[in-house]
Amino acid sequence: MKTVNPKHENPRLTLRDNASPFAAYSDEYVLELPAEHRFPMPKYALLQQQLSYEGIIDDSHWIRPAPIQDHHILRCHPPDYLSKLNTGTWTRQEQRKSGFPWSHALIERERIIMEGTRRCALIAAAGGVALNIAGGTHHAFADRAEGFCLLNDLAIAAHHLLDLGVARIAIIDLDVHQGNGTASMTQNEARIFTMSMHGANNYPLHKEISTLDIPLEDGTSDEHYLKELDSALDCIMETFRPEVLMYQCGVDVLFTDRLGRLSLTMEGCKQRDIMVFDACRSAGIGAVCAMGGGYSTEVNTIVDAHLQTFRAARDAWT
Ligand SMILES: [Zn+2]
Repeated sequence: MKTVNPKHENPRLTLRDNASPFAAYSDEYVLELPAEHRFPMPKYALLQQQLSYEGIIDDSHWIRPAPIQDHHILRCHPPDYLSKLNTGTWTRQEQRKSGFPWSHALIERERIIMEGTRRCALIAAAGGVALNIAGGTHHAFADRAEGFCLLNDLAIAAHHLLDLGVARIAIIDLDVHQGNGTASMTQNEARIFTMSMHGANNYPLHKEISTLDIPLEDGTSDEHYLKELDSALDCIMETFRPEVLMYQCGVDVLFTDRLGRLSLTMEGCKQRDIMVFDACRSAGIGAVCAMGGGYSTEVNTIVDAHLQTFRAARDAWT
C-alpha cells in the first residue's frame, strides 16, 4: 500500500530518514484557561520540551501544524455545527458539556490540533510513525462537543486517508474513557474498524457501539489489561488487516489517575504501548498517535507516561 505521497505536503519528509518518529506540536496547543480550571494544560509544553531535550524527536522531525482547512472538517462535521463553533453561539448547556469556555483561541487551537493529527496520519499511511502531542478528541460527535473534545481528529484524519486511497484503518482507542464520538462518527464506514478498551463504569455513562468494545472492571490490573489487548490486536490484525493504525494513547489508565478507576502501573502502560507498536511492525504498517487523556495528580506523571509512548515508537521504528 503506497497510494499516499506525504512528500506532497511535507517536502522535507523522507521516510528513509528514520532518525526518530515525527511529532506535531504548536505553541497554540497550550490554551490559557481560568486558574481554577481542572484541565492539565501545562502537559503539552512540558512534553514537547522533554522530547526535544532528550532528543527523542529529531529537530527536523517536528511538524508545526497550521489550522486545518474547512473542507477536512466538513467531511465529518455538518456546516451548521462548524458555524456554531466559529461564532460561539453555544447554549450554556452545550458550553458546559464541551468542558471549555468558548473563545476564538479555543477554536483556533482545535483546528491546529486537527491538522496535527491529519499531518501525522499522512506519515503513518506511508509506513512511518508520527505522534501528535495533543488530539485524540474521541468524545466529539459530528454535531456536538463533549469532554474537552470539539472536533474529532481521529474521524477527520481517518476519512481523509480513505479519500486518499487507504483501504482499511483501525482506530485503537486505549484511553480509559470510551471513544464514543469516534464510534458514532464512523459507524457506517466499514473501512474503519474502531476498538475501544475502557472502564466499564467510567464516563461516558451511555456508551456507543464500536466495532469492538472491551469494557474493563474498576481496578483492572496490568496482567488482565495486557492479555485482553494482546488478543484483541491479534484478532484485528489477522481478520481486518488494517493498512494504517491510529492509536489514541490516553494515559488515564494509570492507577494514579484521578478519573481513571483502573490500576495500571507505569510499567504496564509502557508495555501497552510496546504491544501496539509491535503489532504495527509485525504487520508492516504505520501508526499515528493522538495523545488523549491523562489526569494524574502530578503533571510530571502524565508527561512521563506520554514520554514512554514516544520512546516506544522510536524503538519500534528506528
Ligand atoms: Zn480519557
